Amino acid sequence: MMIKELVIASHNQGKIDEISKMLAPYGVKVISARELNLPDVEETGTTFRENAELKAVQLSNLSGKPCLADDSGLCVDALNGRPGVYSARYAEYVENGKTVRDFDRAMDMLIKELQQSQTQDWSAHFSCVLAFKEPEADCRFFEGKVEGKIVSQKSGNMGFGFDPIFVPEGFNKTFGNFSKDEKALVSHRGRAFEKFIKEVFETE
Ligand code: IMP
Repeated sequence: MMIKELVIASHNQGKIDEISKMLAPYGVKVISARELNLPDVEETGTTFRENAELKAVQLSNLSGKPCLADDSGLCVDALNGRPGVYSARYAEYVENGKTVRDFDRAMDMLIKELQQSQTQDWSAHFSCVLAFKEPEADCRFFEGKVEGKIVSQKSGNMGFGFDPIFVPEGFNKTFGNFSKDEKALVSHRGRAFEKFIKEVFETE
């Protein structure tokens, strides 16, 4: 089946921008969950795969359209893989009864945690699991990972989330200094997308 429209099960504009750019050559109309007034699905799973599946299945059922969900996060070795699936929530705090998400503060907290642990090993990776659900079909999964390290100096404003403190292996600049095209070639999301595109768009 040719895919003409794809709902992206995310309210994270940074992710939606990257995904739209990666799908641009395939002529598919990318629709965000927000455009359809679809809810932000609660991530009650304990793995990237479980959360991606929850989001893709619920929003495909609600919209009746093919739906792609990305669950991703930053896993720091010295912190036993934290914040991992809780990466977005690591950046949240409650102020005047409202939940605020602040990555600048989250990056400071992460650097502080690593400094206090007194480890020299600041290695980390980003993981991404894509779940693709078409009406009447089973969910399909595509995974990607990028190894690297955390640095104590934030740098660059081209990405989102923890990009300003993550340097991928083989480079000497943070993801904050990568353009979207450049990041897609090495990132966890780019690698997962390469598999998704090969299977869904290039085998028609
Ligand atoms: P979720 O998958 O929507 O639960 O959130 C994933 C969280 O992981 C994001 O809010 C970011 O904090 C972090 N994250 C995932 N991918 C990236 C990335 O490419 N760059 C920076 N941070 C990321």
